[in-house]
Amino acid sequence: MKTPQMQSIKSKDSIVYFQEETYIQLNQYLLKANHSDVFILVDTNTHDNCLARFMGNLEIDIPIEVIEIEAGEINKNIETCSGVWNALSELGADRKSLLINLGGGVVTDLGGFVACTFKRGISYINVPTSLLAQVDASVGGKTGVDLGNLKNMVGVISESEMVLVDTSYLETLPANELRSGFAEMLKHGLITDANYWQRLNKIKELTTTDLADLIHESVVIKNKIVTVDPTEQNIRKYLNFGHTLGHAIESHFLTHPKKTTLLHGEAIAVGMIVESFIANKLSGLTLPELNEVSQSLLTIYPKVIIEKEDYQPIIDLLIFDKKNVGGKVLFVLLKQIGEAVYNCEVPEELLIASLNYYNNL
Ligand code: NAD
Repeated sequence: MKTPQMQSIKSKDSIVYFQEETYIQLNQYLLKANHSDVFILVDTNTHDNCLARFMGNLEIDIPIEVIEIEAGEINKNIETCSGVWNALSELGADRKSLLINLGGGVVTDLGGFVACTFKRGISYINVPTSLLAQVDASVGGKTGVDLGNLKNMVGVISESEMVLVDTSYLETLPANELRSGFAEMLKHGLITDANYWQRLNKIKELTTTDLADLIHESVVIKNKIVTVDPTEQNIRKYLNFGHTLGHAIESHFLTHPKKTTLLHGEAIAVGMIVESFIANKLSGLTLPELNEVSQSLLTIYPKVIIEKEDYQPIIDLLIFDKKNVGGKVLFVLLKQIGEAVYNCEVPEELLIASLNYYNNL
């Protein structure tokens, strides 16, 4: 019998299956759905590390084509979409084709967007292979790509047919990528569940086996939020905790010629620290809680060097952030560990103070 921890999770238009149930459900779906053909989108790394495992679990007899993109956030752009749209078109995809996104958040975000726009929308399935994609990016229907250095500027919200979480893909995921995904799990704890945050903090070493139940728990948290508010009118904004400044920092490092690109979770970890500093000033997070968040995140994520000359470009990028309405920079802040509040305005001097706080840690 399935452990309660591995029960499938339903949202409005999609369903997340876990572990051994994933391929049973996929094969049943493919038999019934009558797709004209199936396309699998991979990046260079998931082609080498995940495709054989995935194909080995398919039991259908319909044409399958593999489309490969270059790995990395730098390729999550409209030019890559163009390549995939062209490949689909040249390979004869039609409105009844299915796209399966086998990869991390870049593949699921970009592939989802390609599917939602090709011929005005074809079905797609997410098979997330990174921790970040399993606990966050593949769930909730947000798809899209970056525009220059502006993160996720172009996209649509439309859920996949299903999400298949098979944690054995994580065995080949590099350790820094595992840590990156763990940041979104910590975020889930910080915004909704102090107990979950504490349990995550007790983990000494990230291993695939220990993570399986926790991954399920994170998906439960994310799914609850996006099911109530699929289009981010209210509580879905909680998921942006750490992402307002975090995205601006990630964007700045992505395009600055002298900076090393940060992994998404690494940038979000900085974002969660600086936004917790702001929360201590504005929304009631206590000093001991702020210290707890900062110390915990700094133990896991390497300190990022943010020079004084980076401050203004980062703050300028905030103004362009897609989440801001009418030019106002709106933040999600913590009231306490496990409880968040959204639509908080933050004065510019506090943004600078928060970056100073991080630098002095
Ligand atoms: P990613 O897709 O770039 O994957 C990270 C790296 O791991 C890549 O090099 C990839 O090729 C490699 N990889 C993936 N699975 C592997 C495996 N099993 N074995 C070996 N290598 C593997 O990035 P990510 O961290 O998965 O996702 C980050 C992206 O997700 C960002 O673009 C972010 O904006 C997006 N995101 C989206 C949402 C959403 O709701 N749609 C939520 C959070 C993040």
